[in-house]
Amino acid sequence: MSDQRGFSTRAIHAGYEPDPLTGAVNVPIYASSTFAQDGVGGLRGGFEYARTGNPTRRALEANLAALEGGTYGRGFASGMAATDTLLRSALRPGDHLVIPNDAYGGTFRLIDKVFTQWGITYSVAPVTDIDAVRAAVRPETKLVWVETPTNPLLNVGDIEALAGVAHDAGAKLVVDNTFASPYLQQPLSLGADVVLHSTTKYLGGHSDVVGGALVTDDEELDAAFAFLQNGAGAVPGPFDGYLTLRGIKTLAVRMDRHCDNAEKVVDFLSGHAKIESVLYPGLPGHPGHEVAAKQMKRFGGMISVLVAGGIDAAKDFCARTEVFTLAESLGGIESLIEHPGAMTHASTAGSLLEVPDNLVRLSVGIEDIDDILGDLENALR
Ligand SMILES: *Cc1c(COP(=O)(O)O)cnc(C)c1O
Repeated sequence: MSDQRGFSTRAIHAGYEPDPLTGAVNVPIYASSTFAQDGVGGLRGGFEYARTGNPTRRALEANLAALEGGTYGRGFASGMAATDTLLRSALRPGDHLVIPNDAYGGTFRLIDKVFTQWGITYSVAPVTDIDAVRAAVRPETKLVWVETPTNPLLNVGDIEALAGVAHDAGAKLVVDNTFASPYLQQPLSLGADVVLHSTTKYLGGHSDVVGGALVTDDEELDAAFAFLQNGAGAVPGPFDGYLTLRGIKTLAVRMDRHCDNAEKVVDFLSGHAKIESVLYPGLPGHPGHEVAAKQMKRFGGMISVLVAGGIDAAKDFCARTEVFTLAESLGGIESLIEHPGAMTHASTAGSLLEVPDNLVRLSVGIEDIDDILGDLENALR
């Protein structure tokens, strides 16, 4: 039965009860690669070898499942390891998938450079356009892959409608929920079959650990994920699992502050002469605003802007901030700024997924809002 407690209660408690032996309130970092057996095959806690399963990872996985309202959770060494595991679980040579026209650069690179070599084909469609996604589906389509909001253009897809398109075609809907986090959006409740996370971002939340997750209600898919955790081994170590769980405990309070700060940054940038346009689903004029308002609790901490004056002005903006660190990644407590065209999304250059060269992406942190706004004001002066 699914865990009915409130979100923050689940974030803090799901997956672990104080240790009966010691009373330890937090899950121990089980630094053990192997587990003693009481007679051959006599496992004490269900654990035999840590690639297959480890108690710290098990606690994280149960917690992730509870946060997304799913039955099964699996932890991975990175978001890309989770992506790779999902693709290999759900696709066979000859199969096809639909991906967003502004998918995360690493997702696109893995599909385009690796999976196509193994007989997988893909089509690209905007997540905003249900008819285009439906038109991209073929008889051999097994997965419809969406991010919402997308990275880095903050486009919004209607998860419920996209699930309908996928299911009509006999395909499964995957939602990469990294940008929203389960606090703001729970795709399984909207009809998605699998939720994917880079836990490196908001879930971990402190820019100190890389990880990934898959959550599903589909027993067969989960068994395939577990098979590859053991069979291919892209699993997180116990310290990674512990750090991610530690981050998750404060997800709700962090996300609310990220959203508060982002809304103020949007207000500031919207009227600014050096900014051509602000992409943020919370803006009433954003084309995905209504869908976002329907399926998200709030609009998140990520903002992209098109900078007036082209690529040089955009790179200049990135180089001049001080509170915002110029760096890849997102979702941590500290504010980050980056130029997707030259950084996170460089792998999309020349492809259908190429991003505008005056695009700048902001991951708004939880520092004091006056310092955040002052920094942007200086950098744009
Ligand atoms: C970062 C990211 C990934 C990849 O995750 P890693 O943990 O860096 O491997 C996948 N999807 C989105 C939307 C991301 O932002």
